[in-house]
Amino acid sequence: MEDKELFLALLNTPSITPNDGGLLAFVEDYLPNFTAKRVDVDGVKNLFLYRKFGEGVHLCFAGHVDVVPPGEGWESDPFEPVEKDGFIYARGAQDMKSGVCAILQICRQVTHFNGTLSILLTSDEEGEAKNGTAKVLEILNEEKLLPDFAIVAEPTCEKNFGDTIKIGRRGSINGTIELMGEQGHVAYPQNVKNPIHQIATILPKIAEHAFDEGDSVFAPSKLVITDIKAGNNVTNVTPKTLKLMFNVRNSPSTKIENVERYIRSIFGLLYLVNNPGKEQLKFNLELNESAKPFLTDKSSILIAHLSRSIEEVTGLVPELSAGGGTSDARFFAEFGVSVAEFGVMHDTIHAANERCYLSHLRGLINVFKLLVEKF
Ligand SMILES: [Zn+2]
Repeated sequence: MEDKELFLALLNTPSITPNDGGLLAFVEDYLPNFTAKRVDVDGVKNLFLYRKFGEGVHLCFAGHVDVVPPGEGWESDPFEPVEKDGFIYARGAQDMKSGVCAILQICRQVTHFNGTLSILLTSDEEGEAKNGTAKVLEILNEEKLLPDFAIVAEPTCEKNFGDTIKIGRRGSINGTIELMGEQGHVAYPQNVKNPIHQIATILPKIAEHAFDEGDSVFAPSKLVITDIKAGNNVTNVTPKTLKLMFNVRNSPSTKIENVERYIRSIFGLLYLVNNPGKEQLKFNLELNESAKPFLTDKSSILIAHLSRSIEEVTGLVPELSAGGGTSDARFFAEFGVSVAEFGVMHDTIHAANERCYLSHLRGLINVFKLLVEKF
């Protein structure tokens, strides 16, 4: 199929997470020269395709065929792609059927490669991401089929096509603190332990606290308070408990242990030092790490080849970034695979009237073509 014809066919297929809409079977048929391995877990469909051309490296192109629900406010049917002013409008145009289209085209057209080329596609990236890429990599690891290098074709560009590669991602640490006081009558504050007053002296020390200073790739890892609840919705009773929730998007230099140590010291000894005469606070702290941070070595051959390919196609030297939310690239990193993300622009992802320049899709195909030649 022509690039545009294939892109429209992918967009025409509703594949709201975790439904693949039949796209994985379509992909399998589209690349008959590749060996297919289906990994279906609890209703989630995944596909791994590989082809050995030579004895060299194993390069994997990865992505997802699922999309987020269209939501409201569309000017056209989100699953009936519309072409206008050089754009294609449809759900998934940027995130990430453009990437999937580029992967399929390059893998179908390639005739020589100095090693093994593979494709890993899941239908569980936009959802829980539990039975998708992570599960496939577990199996590949057992079967000694793990790639050396992986490109995740997620949309990464900020203002111009070619301006950004993601070479890492921040992790995400969620926290809940429950502060236990004693309920009482507002007229006798000396007799109550009011958790709202207790937290008042602490908030300035935790709100926006930076656990590290960041560097050229990572922003500082800051604590962001997302919720505080206490009280009985009245003016004459002080509450018994207060619940505070927060999140830290962390770089590799801040670990969950650093967050735990800091919170415990602020609510423990430091509270006593800063509030002489007051009793020790009673609190529970719960922390969980929903994603681990990672960073691919900037001097990796993958980053060098990808940057050069982008520069040759677009004239831009891409910035190496680790911004944004989490993606499946983290799973490759956990298995020790050198991974980078590159795709089209991300300015309309998950929004109504999502759109992608057709010229950017063609640029992406050309970048991947050059990349494959460089290995
Ligand atoms: Zn995506």
